[in-house]
Amino acid sequence: MSTDFANNDFKELVRSRTDLVALVGESVALTPSRGGAEFKCLCPFHDDHSPSLVVYPDRQTFRCWACSTGGDCFTWAMEFDKVEFREALESLAKRAGLEMPTFTGRRQENAIAKTDVLDVLAWAENEFHRCLLESQMAAPAREYLKERGFTAETIARFKLGFAPNDGQWIIARGRGKISLEPMETARLIKKSDEGDGYYQFFRNRVLFPIRNDKGHCVSFGGRVLPQFAQPGVGKYINGPESDVYSKSNLLFGFDAAREGIRKAQTAVIVEGYTDVLIPHQFGVTNVVGVCGTALTQAHVDRLKRFAQRIVLMFDGDEAGRNAAEKALTNFLGENIDLRVLVLPNDQDPDEFLFAHGADEFRRQIDIAAEAWDFKLQTEINRHGLESIDARHRVLTSMLELLGKVPKLRGSAKEDVILNRLASRTLLSEQVVRQRLSEARSAAASQPSRAAQNNPLPNGNKSAAGMPQGGSETTARTMSAPTAPLGHKSLRVDGVPTIRGLCFFDRPLSKGDRMECELLEIIFTDPSTLDVIRREIGDEDFDNEQTRALLQACFDLLDHDEMPTFERISSAIEDAALMRLLVWIDEQARLKEIAAKLKDNLMAPSGTSVPPYLTLALQPIRFRRAEQQHQRNTGRLAQQPDARAGLNPNAKALLEQATAFHQKRAAKTTWQ
Ligand SMILES: [Zn+2]
Repeated sequence: MSTDFANNDFKELVRSRTDLVALVGESVALTPSRGGAEFKCLCPFHDDHSPSLVVYPDRQTFRCWACSTGGDCFTWAMEFDKVEFREALESLAKRAGLEMPTFTGRRQENAIAKTDVLDVLAWAENEFHRCLLESQMAAPAREYLKERGFTAETIARFKLGFAPNDGQWIIARGRGKISLEPMETARLIKKSDEGDGYYQFFRNRVLFPIRNDKGHCVSFGGRVLPQFAQPGVGKYINGPESDVYSKSNLLFGFDAAREGIRKAQTAVIVEGYTDVLIPHQFGVTNVVGVCGTALTQAHVDRLKRFAQRIVLMFDGDEAGRNAAEKALTNFLGENIDLRVLVLPNDQDPDEFLFAHGADEFRRQIDIAAEAWDFKLQTEINRHGLESIDARHRVLTSMLELLGKVPKLRGSAKEDVILNRLASRTLLSEQVVRQRLSEARSAAASQPSRAAQNNPLPNGNKSAAGMPQGGSETTARTMSAPTAPLGHKSLRVDGVPTIRGLCFFDRPLSKGDRMECELLEIIFTDPSTLDVIRREIGDEDFDNEQTRALLQACFDLLDHDEMPTFERISSAIEDAALMRLLVWIDEQARLKEIAAKLKDNLMAPSGTSVPPYLTLALQPIRFRRAEQQHQRNTGRLAQQPDARAGLNPNAKALLEQATAFHQKRAAKTTWQ
């Protein structure tokens, strides 16, 4: 809990400049529901198959009905980017074009925040870009890009750059402005092997800025100019991974392709920087690339949030086919329409586009073969279908693949594949199924790599915050709603119920419920807090978490601030409390507390207190009286002479006890 109100003002400012719907929409595809009153999407925090996450534009909050992750824009940034609050605040401030005030600089001196590194990378990106456009040294690079067909617009839009053949160039450009330490953290420079100097990582290369989802440059891909290519040195090099750049998470061009992917419901994955940028230049905007790594679960999870279909576009060479096969094994069982495309005559995407244009390119994407069909065709090309022996060989290699994908077992997709396999190999489906179960037992005795990578059968999140699919157990357990860590869900007839999900380490007790009900009223109408404060103190709340929320409301009141939902959430930095806040607020709306508070029919004359509030306060007052009574009884027992009338203390306690009993019997209100 933060009581730093100057800080909260800034947090509030950032929040007011952040539209949660737009923020969430940057990372997942949102669909409006209830006439735009809500937005829904697949939850990125658990393995979601039906849209479970709801974003409420009016409250600027979100919540997942299955895994209970929820909160405001800061929670979203913290959960999605796996960062601490301070970093989330900084990145949202930056996104909103706000400068962090100095009073928030509680950061340790030796830790460089990600945003600093991003600033350095943004600066370097500009330097390299200007160098490409203006410098004499970059003339061959400009010539190369022109030959490859890059237009000036594409070069400007994607901010391509040039790193001169000078190990000190970027260091010299930054002198007096950027110190070496953040440059090294950004992997722009490296310590030299001999001596203690530094040198620039990219030299004499055309640079393709690699951006994260938010469009910030996190690294570069460097292409050597053809005339300087050396044997044994890669044509392309990728920047090393860093605090802000993880290859297994990042898809090159995703920030530019997001909308195109969402609209087309199709993501096309290619292998190189040029293969991404030239399609974009032609207006085919649903194309992304992997940066020097195989397709990962994190990549697929990200794309699944925007598209129903993933088209893997690979080179027709051996390496391309191997990559396709590997992707096939890993992702055939995913709940996604996976396709493989090799362009005619093994052309690269850019060659194909310049030769045939965008429409033909799109047509190729549309007719791309289903991934398993591509594999089947490959095997048929390899072995033929002439002899029984050849057909069995085709079958064997296909079943070997299917045996490695436990998620397929018993699925409709599996039926389609087996049926097709039988008809293509002219073998009976019964034989095919028999052979598959043999292949499965063989695969089971030799656990797949995917299964080994996922030793935990529960919904533990990977470092990237992506629930890891992979093994069958994972898929099965994750399809049931998962309560957040340390929180249990109530089960009715063995079925986990969302209604029963609770935010404490046990089901909601009667006491929890009445405390939550009072908070529902406060969040709905903060002006009720004046009345509430007169009646109860935060010590009247037994639950630590609800008490913290009530305390936050009182704190705001003490600072002459109306404890609006926004202000309360500003005062909260704890994720569990935030979840609770959003949950209670949501309950308030479901129960239509606002309408209940307005219902004044039952109000005794002369009072402005809504009867609903009086009703909600009563059980808390009663509990307080009861607890007081128990304490009194305890003290009474300890009095030296407990007989009434002999000891004034005992007498007073006895009187109180009698009053308690009378009141309880009369069921009067507890004033
Ligand atoms: Zn969820």
